[in-house]
Amino acid sequence: MQYQQIEQNSTAIKKRIETAAMNCGRNPDHIKLIAVTKTVTPDRIENAIQAGLNNFGENYIQEAIHKIQMVIHQDIFWHYIGHLQTNKAKIAVSHFHLIHSVDSVKLARALNQYASQLNKIQSILLQVNISDEQSKSGFSMNQVESAIHDILQFPHVKIQGLMTMPPYFDDPEHARPFLKNLRQLRDHLLHELPQVCLDELSMGMSSDFEVAIEEGATMLRIGTAIFGERE
Ligand SMILES: *Cc1c(COP(=O)(O)O)cnc(C)c1O
Repeated sequence: MQYQQIEQNSTAIKKRIETAAMNCGRNPDHIKLIAVTKTVTPDRIENAIQAGLNNFGENYIQEAIHKIQMVIHQDIFWHYIGHLQTNKAKIAVSHFHLIHSVDSVKLARALNQYASQLNKIQSILLQVNISDEQSKSGFSMNQVESAIHDILQFPHVKIQGLMTMPPYFDDPEHARPFLKNLRQLRDHLLHELPQVCLDELSMGMSSDFEVAIEEGATMLRIGTAIFGERE
């Protein structure tokens, strides 16, 4: 895909985000567009930066590190959105602004340990397996509260919110109940644990981001609608 197409797609997506936000009375500035760049080459990422994008999401640690080292710009934020093994915690802490996919207390403990060594506070989201699918990682809904209690003891990680990935549907309306569930879970947790920051809801992808905005998403993870179908 060429630069112009990436630029056009980015502009169109931003417009759609703005319209969806306005239509439900939300401020579009409170919704962050994260361009998902798994399988996208560094020169295409450069194109996306030229087109004005500055938040990028990666799923695979080796691929991500390689690209992060090649794409050197000011004010670029890298998000880790894939499953993270504990033995990759160290490298993740040294490269990512926000890790969306924390799915165990064990992983949070490892992130805390390496963040402490790097003298950093690592921002994280807790991934919730809202659809309870075997194939997906994440805490089940009823595990999240106790996980938060445990993770609050780690001074070098900071919980910022929740992330989920509903099943794929052709009709985004079918994703709505899952997206709504994440928001309701967040509201419930805030009621129980008012001292915790759960501002961020990372949900909404190419197929369902407008519905996600209506349900309260603050971070959208969008790949194919910007870069085209992946190989
Ligand atoms: C690939 C991926 C996305 C983006 O999906 P698209 O359908 O290409 O927008 C979002 N979140 C996660 C966790 C992903 O792996």
